Amino acid sequence: MPIDALAPYDDQNIFARILRGEIPNRTVYEDEWALAFHDINPQAPVHVLVIPKGAYVSWDDFTAKAPDEEVAGFIRAVGHVARELGLPATGYRLLANIGMHGHQEVPHLHVHIFGGRQMGLMLPR
Ligand code: 5GP
Repeated sequence: MPIDALAPYDDQNIFARILRGEIPNRTVYEDEWALAFHDINPQAPVHVLVIPKGAYVSWDDFTAKAPDEEVAGFIRAVGHVARELGLPATGYRLLANIGMHGHQEVPHLHVHIFGGRQMGLMLPR
């Protein structure tokens, strides 16, 4: 079920638990601002999730509340991960689902990085 992007942060969500080390993940990259790990149900040859270390429900929550340093650190981490995965040469797709219409399922901001194949049209029609 998609989540309500305006709901308060729930520190029992699955990505909060991954950040606390309570649930294992296949880490790709970690720094002060972000953790990147393979999606458990990959939709492309490369499907990595990048999440901020701070407690933000969604892109909306993050860009409204996070300090500039945290926003910059997180966005730079997304770019860094894509480069480390060798994706810029062929291209890749970033996706952040937000709330009900975005069909966001996990209520901790995450950016999907998809790559390794032609992604096709931007949205299903
Ligand atoms: P959303 O629809 O919220 O943008 O995407 C949530 C993503 O999280 C999905 O692609 C799903 O496969 C992934 N996911 C859900 N639970 C876990 C988990 O426990 N571990 C990992 N690595 N990915 C998860």
